[in-house]
Amino acid sequence: MVELEELPSVGEKTAQKLRDAGFADMMRLATATAKELAVKAEIGEGVAEKVIEAARKAEKIDFETAFDVLERRKEVGYITVGSEPFNELIGGGIETQSITEVFGEFGSGKSQVSHELAVTVQLPEEQGGLDAECVFIDTENTFRPERIEQIASAFGLDHQEVLQKIHIARAFNSAHQILMAEKVNELIQSGSNIKLVIVDSLMAHFRAEYIGRESLATRQQKLNQHLHTLQNIATTYNVAIFLTNQVQARPDAFFGSPTKAIGGHVLGHASTYRIWLKKGLAGKRIARLVDSPHLPEGECVFKITADGIVD
Ligand code: ADP
Repeated sequence: MVELEELPSVGEKTAQKLRDAGFADMMRLATATAKELAVKAEIGEGVAEKVIEAARKAEKIDFETAFDVLERRKEVGYITVGSEPFNELIGGGIETQSITEVFGEFGSGKSQVSHELAVTVQLPEEQGGLDAECVFIDTENTFRPERIEQIASAFGLDHQEVLQKIHIARAFNSAHQILMAEKVNELIQSGSNIKLVIVDSLMAHFRAEYIGRESLATRQQKLNQHLHTLQNIATTYNVAIFLTNQVQARPDAFFGSPTKAIGGHVLGHASTYRIWLKKGLAGKRIARLVDSPHLPEGECVFKITADGIVD
């Protein structure tokens, strides 16, 4: 592994600044922009450019062949959502290296699926997990450790161990939310085996803070930055990103769905998989895959029980 001090223009002092700003490894540097690096590490933009270029060389970032892409895809891990039809619908579970978004009305089960995944990512691979830890960015104070205990029990896991592997970040506003996502880099660099980052819910703060048409552009710009950070974590460290999102009523819709995910095109483009959750009859839930790069659209039915998500 190449050390920061080995890069041209990087002395002891700059290396320390880079580390303090969370740019301790080559891949993180290689995927940064000069502006971002200059601001966060408080170095000149010229130096930042050189450092990034050197990191890209060290990481051999260049064109790659489709074969390389396929090789990287082989490293993709899958996390079970607890229900077999649901897993099948999304191609085997929630994928690493990708952003998966679930959206739906209040009470449709978005937080429940989030809690389920926080546990299942810890399962061994043969049981549908990745034997790993997770980060839970909670923006609406919906995280409940008691619920984790119930789900952990259903899988026969030790409650305390499971709770200790869930790193909670309670985000108080959108700026804090953005910062906590950036901090995930540091957590991983310090040795935590994070394979899942949950943001529940992605848009709540953005929606509440940026009101009116005139602030929409700023909101989308901040959101874009946040999603970029998350996407970077996904690809750099082979991590799954799971976002929950709210819906907006469309009283004018004659055709198609009467509700729509919020977040606009910025989010629509960033999410690799988009899943719409709906309440069905007799406490059942319906998951509809509405967007995926290689899977057909489709639906499945699942249930939320005391034990978590089941068929
Ligand atoms: P959302 O995040 O989409 O607003 P939630 O994920 O909080 O919705 O889902 C809430 C629903 O989940 C409740 O209305 C209830 O039906 C179900 N639920 C929550 N906890 C339990 C439990 N312990 N046992 C069974 N169902 C539960």
